[in-house]
Amino acid sequence: MFTIIIKADFETLGKISEKLDELKSFQHKEFMINKLYLQRFTRNEFVESLGVPVCPYCNRNFVNSAKKRTMCDLDHFYNKDEYPLLAVSFYNLVPVCHSCNHAKGTKNIDYSPHDKKYKTNDLVNFDFYLRSMNFLYNSKDIGVEIEESKQFVRNIKVLKLSEVYQIHSDIVQDCIKR
Ligand SMILES: [Zn+2]
Repeated sequence: MFTIIIKADFETLGKISEKLDELKSFQHKEFMINKLYLQRFTRNEFVESLGVPVCPYCNRNFVNSAKKRTMCDLDHFYNKDEYPLLAVSFYNLVPVCHSCNHAKGTKNIDYSPHDKKYKTNDLVNFDFYLRSMNFLYNSKDIGVEIEESKQFVRNIKVLKLSEVYQIHSDIVQDCIKR
């Protein structure tokens, strides 16, 4: 039973989570989180085997790791306090940057990078707008706009992606100049 939950693909995890909604108090919280996840789960090995170089929540910060050093946090897409049975399910764990992990906390988002139903280009597109005609001299006069699909709205809001992407107005400025 545990093996099935641990190895379940993302779609199956969704189905399991719906069933767990009715069983929240019977999910062996102590065992799953304190014993399995915090003590037994080989976090660095897991992250290294995924080989994900950039945080898939923001696509901005590097999360690459080497054997002894990891630069990422592990987010539980279905948060472990509410769904302790999914605390070590591979497809529930997302290697993310500290900033995204902090912003998400125990909040829920709608899209997981493990969800193969969607392609990133279908979920999000970028545009820009000009705040003043001084934009060629001051990149802060360029605003970065995110056009998101319905499935991605909560990700943008919870992970504060509109705010963090404003810093990349210099790249937009560079593109305009070229
Ligand atoms: Zn991130």
